[in-house]
Amino acid sequence: MTHTIDHTHDASATSWVESANGHADFPVQNLPFGVFSTDGEDMRGGVAIGAFVLDLRNVLDADLIEDERDLLHYASFATLNDFFAIPGGPAELRGKLFTALTDASYRDAMEPCLVPMADVQMHLPFEVHDYTDFYTGIHHAMNIGSLFRPDNPLLPNYKHVPIGYHGRSSSIRVSGTPVKRPTGQQKPAEDGGTPEFGPSKRLDYELEMAIWVGRGNELGEPIPVGEAEEHIAGISILNDWSARDIQAWEYQPLGPFLAKNFASTVSPWVVTMDALAPFRAAQPPRAEGDPQPLPYLQHDTSAAAFGITMEVLITTPKMREKGDAPHRLSKGPMTAMYWTAAQLLAHHSVGGCNLQPGDLLGTGTLTSGDEGGEGSLIELTEGGKKTISLPNGEERKFLEDGDEVIMTAYAEKDGFARIGLGECRAIIKG
Ligand code: MN
Repeated sequence: MTHTIDHTHDASATSWVESANGHADFPVQNLPFGVFSTDGEDMRGGVAIGAFVLDLRNVLDADLIEDERDLLHYASFATLNDFFAIPGGPAELRGKLFTALTDASYRDAMEPCLVPMADVQMHLPFEVHDYTDFYTGIHHAMNIGSLFRPDNPLLPNYKHVPIGYHGRSSSIRVSGTPVKRPTGQQKPAEDGGTPEFGPSKRLDYELEMAIWVGRGNELGEPIPVGEAEEHIAGISILNDWSARDIQAWEYQPLGPFLAKNFASTVSPWVVTMDALAPFRAAQPPRAEGDPQPLPYLQHDTSAAAFGITMEVLITTPKMREKGDAPHRLSKGPMTAMYWTAAQLLAHHSVGGCNLQPGDLLGTGTLTSGDEGGEGSLIELTEGGKKTISLPNGEERKFLEDGDEVIMTAYAEKDGFARIGLGECRAIIKG
């Protein structure tokens, strides 16, 4: 394994940043990288620690971490593409920052480099080069397939080839950016009828995880599955907003287009593969009778999955007015992926396609297969046939203007400090 458990995962380690100790998302055992700005200042790299962001440019300028000027230089840029392309660089800097944030002798010099999270604006961590969305959530694929093809929910290629499509990177925004309801052609009410045109009436979210590419590959030189994890920078939370009425009309024969290109939202922090080392999990075994992957997709899957729990919550304008707590719509594990992250990179590049630093690979909607684990409204409402009742009596089938969707994700394991990915949230605007 390239990502080993070491002293930076010691559950008893504490930081002189007191708010980090026992923090649900950002204890010193996590140290995710992101890009932030404060009023009147330009964008730069930072690390989340408790209720603060450690300003890496100030750490660099004050020369607070010996021997790491190069890595701090790249990590303090306005995008993290170059930093995460450095083999071993993020792991090394995370290790040095762990030392600095746990060793009290650094406190006086480093404390001025902490910025309260409440005072920062977060930005996309990468300049997103290309965006590919996969379809690895087998329970989601079964649920969606059942709505459209009750007799034949999974197409015969599903268990042989990781299904995906090339998405749109220009409309990816960081958590907190409002999402404008898309207008477009919608499936006619009757087969053969004229399509409707107007604002989508079936606006949905998709609960996904974002896998960020760190180091790329040369055109024509595929990434072997056994080396694929060395190309992953880390992960964030992804909401692949989907207009189901536009999707239903346009998706055949070439797949999603305008139904998904108007906005995608990602959480701002890149939780590194190093931070996730204790939370690796076995890839769930394939069902009896399922085919084995072709040789180029075969690898040791004993720790190839991620023991991460994901949740979706919603608030409506009425709920926020009354100060009601967000209502949880679903909760499920990231192990709902039929294909591993390594298999996704290997498959994406097997024909010679070059992945680049800052490419974003979406897992596809991750639905758990248990009730309460549905990763989209189209599943929760069975295609809009059922109604969801919220605690205050309001009802939903799809999203309404003013609704806010909040996704969270975290990893927990006995003997280790819990770490989190933060939040991926956005309000729908009409
Ligand atoms: Mn999707």
